[in-house]
Amino acid sequence: MMDLKGKKVLVVGLGKSGLAAALFLRRRGAQVTVSDVRSAEALAKDIPALLDEGINVEAGGHGLLTFRRQDLIVVSPGVPLDTPELAQAQSFGLSIIGELELAARFLKGQTIAITGSNGKTTTTTLVGEMLKESGKPTLVGGNIGVPVVSLIDESMNDTWSVLEVSSFQLESTQEFHPAVSVILNITPDHLDRHGSFENYAVAKERIFAAQTGEDCLVLNADNARAAAAAARSKARVYWFSMEYPIDQGAWVEDGQICFRAEKGGVSESIVPLSAIPLKGGHNVENVLAAVCASRLAGCPAEAVRRAIEKFKAVEHRLEFVATLNGVDYYNDSKATNVDATSKAVAAFPGGIHLILGGKDKNSDYTQLAELLRQRVKAVYTIGAAAAKIESHLRGVVPIHSSGTLEKAVAAASSAAHPGDIVLLAPACSSFDQFENYEHRGRVFKELVHEGRGWKVWQNA
Ligand code: ADP
Repeated sequence: MMDLKGKKVLVVGLGKSGLAAALFLRRRGAQVTVSDVRSAEALAKDIPALLDEGINVEAGGHGLLTFRRQDLIVVSPGVPLDTPELAQAQSFGLSIIGELELAARFLKGQTIAITGSNGKTTTTTLVGEMLKESGKPTLVGGNIGVPVVSLIDESMNDTWSVLEVSSFQLESTQEFHPAVSVILNITPDHLDRHGSFENYAVAKERIFAAQTGEDCLVLNADNARAAAAAARSKARVYWFSMEYPIDQGAWVEDGQICFRAEKGGVSESIVPLSAIPLKGGHNVENVLAAVCASRLAGCPAEAVRRAIEKFKAVEHRLEFVATLNGVDYYNDSKATNVDATSKAVAAFPGGIHLILGGKDKNSDYTQLAELLRQRVKAVYTIGAAAAKIESHLRGVVPIHSSGTLEKAVAAASSAAHPGDIVLLAPACSSFDQFENYEHRGRVFKELVHEGRGWKVWQNA
């Protein structure tokens, strides 16, 4: 464990995890400076607490000298590593790590780390529930919204920390060493930041870079880029598949989730598919991955089954909102890339009115064409990406340029017939019109519920 006392540490980027890291470092006796390109006004709500703790704050840009006089630089996941000041600091030989790496050096007990393009939060939450159901001391955090440094004080030698980790967090790891790593899938996302699909995939593979033959790596046998990671890992590899039985791992057979701990071992039936209270084949994949991770952490099969049966969809993940005039409304605001949207569409047999759009991430929406032709009645576009989406999907299905979520919900509601679905699964991030995807999802739910009041009033 590193000694922070008297060390000069710079935290770059004052997001949730940057803030938590700065306060943690200060409590451990470091001399901390925080630097953010946002203005002092934009950071106003956090600055007093930092100054009170004796942390220096540099707002409105990074001073080059700020980056030189440091023993360690802790970079937030939102800050690209090729930021000129960071690149220069690196060339001077300064040590640069992320909040995840910092926390991992202090966290006690064992870690299960979960990454992937989609399904991380759902799977992380489910694994956490499985461990708790098994009576194990459990902490859940990471990209899910709880900075990993904030788990440190609670962690004990017998704790299991279940961490959702993103490609941005993994980019700046060095010794991060999970006992169990999971890569759910690797499909195109964040190409605006990582530059290429291969760079993005390589960042995800850092999840097992420090693992040894004592550790476990869980991979999706049905996802080519995730499966390819096996060849580069020193850990024991476990697989999961929707499509065929697996020697060592989890699969679906005769309507059951099955698990086998080792090649030639007995196959256990964990739970019937019909008992999974989540919609969509993608969620069966998440359950398969969670079964592997929790069984590898020593959870009894019986506790794993109970946790699955009790599980509820995480908010904004294909979340059922209401049935109004025979039309079902679903909020999948977290579907912020093309693959997530196609999984959401594939969860319904047809009759879908699909709301798409937001801030584009250099995505290829033509990938959706075939599925949309089969299942979607009409698309309603919103936000900055609307024109691009329309040009990619022209002629595939009827498209309404709605502009705002409010207009899209109104147009979809008036076009939908009983038995249809109105689905928000926008394939884009939200930052053009909303604070974040949660805000977008909440606005969607409010609009749906307002529609209920209006229709009841009209019918009366
Ligand atoms: P993440 O934390 O990786 O964003 P979530 O569990 O929050 O993952 O799910 C995000 C969205 O991705 C969901 O709303 C759903 O549309 C889709 N999704 C969930 N699991 C999967 C999966 N295994 N494969 C593809 N898409 C998925």
